[in-house]
Amino acid sequence: MGASSEVVFEACRPVLINGIGDPISRADLADRAIPVTLAAIPRERRRTRAAIMSDWRSQAPLIFGAILDGLSSALRHQADCVLESYERLADVEQWVAAAEPGLGWEPGTFSQAYRRAQQGKRLDNIDNNPVARIVVKLMQTREEISGRSVGLACARALARRGLWVIVLEAAGAIGQGISSRNSEVIHAGIYYPAGSLKAVLCVKGRRQLYRYADEKGFEARALGKLIVAANAGEHAKLDALMASAKANDVEGLEMLTGRQATALEPNLVCSAALHSPVSGIVDSHAFMLSLQGDFEDAGGMIAFNTPVVGGAVGNNSIRIEAGGTEPTSVTTRVLVNSAGLHAPAIARSFDGLDARHIPKSYLCKGSYFGLASGKAPFTKLIYPLPNEAGLGIHSTTDLGGQNRFGPDTEWIDTEDYQPSTNRLSEFEQVIRRYYPQLAEGDLTPNYAGIRPKIVGPGEAAADFVIQDETVHAVPGLINLFGIESPGLTASLAIGDKVAEALT
Ligand SMILES: Cc1cc2nc3c(=O)[nH]c(=O)nc-3n(C[C@H](O)[C@H](O)[C@H](O)COP(=O)(O)OP(=O)(O)OC[C@H]3O[C@@H](n4cnc5c(N)ncnc54)[C@H](O)[C@@H]3O)c2cc1C
Repeated sequence: MGASSEVVFEACRPVLINGIGDPISRADLADRAIPVTLAAIPRERRRTRAAIMSDWRSQAPLIFGAILDGLSSALRHQADCVLESYERLADVEQWVAAAEPGLGWEPGTFSQAYRRAQQGKRLDNIDNNPVARIVVKLMQTREEISGRSVGLACARALARRGLWVIVLEAAGAIGQGISSRNSEVIHAGIYYPAGSLKAVLCVKGRRQLYRYADEKGFEARALGKLIVAANAGEHAKLDALMASAKANDVEGLEMLTGRQATALEPNLVCSAALHSPVSGIVDSHAFMLSLQGDFEDAGGMIAFNTPVVGGAVGNNSIRIEAGGTEPTSVTTRVLVNSAGLHAPAIARSFDGLDARHIPKSYLCKGSYFGLASGKAPFTKLIYPLPNEAGLGIHSTTDLGGQNRFGPDTEWIDTEDYQPSTNRLSEFEQVIRRYYPQLAEGDLTPNYAGIRPKIVGPGEAAADFVIQDETVHAVPGLINLFGIESPGLTASLAIGDKVAEALT
């Protein structure tokens, strides 16, 4: 729409979203700009985004083009959602007239508003505008902080249950948090105490993730994994892992001798190995994009560059303060705090939330190194025995066939994502226990991630914390704390659990 888009945008916005004329701001968006949820639209009337886009483009190219070109990306999502929800403009009018006769709806109001918008004219203010009023009246605000695998999985699950969900994301895009700085391993569910959330949600989430990848067409490959004992002194630990895995209902495990393991992986040296055929790797970015797509298709919206900086909890509502270039305040009845490393700090910033229920947070960095020679020595995932804070410096091969080793465990005080090159010799030492052929100088720094720990060095490992009002007595608030590994694997199951608690 070129130069005219600004004018048309101001005039158009209230028709679709909330009222009139005042400058666009995120406060408007948060307070009023929530369109009718898809749940309100009869299922037979819902159509695919592509079909509706194409109809609207041919029926009202100027207006529709203006909306799409003129709106900020956040509002564009909403415009899409509104358009996606209705088959034709006439349907909106018909539906509103039937649903809200008291509003004095006149047939054609919506179309007239569009025509005025098309001409760049300003419309009535919100109080006199039935289109705006009906949208406001029907709005249903649900909020969710954060936008990575776990956050997106929760958002998707809530949106698919018919709730209108906004994700408040501090970063400018998905893919900036822990979820893109991990091993991308689909864990079987071996290590975690029976009955723990980690055990139950990992096994359930893993099965869901393979099915979901299959359905959506992104890659999740069950490469299989060998957890290796370097000597006979470590066999008892492998036996303990086998028992734990069986208690967690992990399928297909077998104990291998060193010779059997080497037959599978000729470059591997070990004295025994636990083989888990259901372990694998996933394209985590494709996974997150797919979650985002599902979420948006179900009517959800992500507000990027919207860092939550504080808030207050009450009996029936939760107020969230967001900073950034357009600070705003949002009031909601449901909030999922899924901000990864920052979830405890965000919870601490809420007035009225009892601090006794918020765990201390610790940062535990894990660096990764690749092979300069580029040649992956293994086809399966190779893990040593786990240590106190991590699963040990393991070898994974990504879907492109590139090998990487890591992560180690390094307790740090401030967020730092540079791989710690000073730990190179420790890496070499650990890797050579199972891969003695590692050449001198072949390891090259790759990337680093940080585990969102809620227990410190030397303390027993903690379970995931999915905290609801039975703990903190705030209706509608769910805090997710300590969502470290296997959080990526478990994310679909975590999403379902959160959604079940809230719907
Ligand atoms: C080194 C390492 C290796 C791992 N390996 C595996 C593995 O192989 N397999 C596996 O299953 N799991 C693994 N994990 C765990 C897994 O990566 C995490 O459990 C999962 O990614 C957590 O996702 P999340 O959505 O909770 O957090 P994140 O991905 O960090 O998302 C949090 C989001 O919140 C946003 N945010 C933060 N503060 C604010 C704020 N104030 N306002 C608004 N938004 C905010 C961030 O920008 C971010 O987008 C690993 C973790 C690490 C650290």
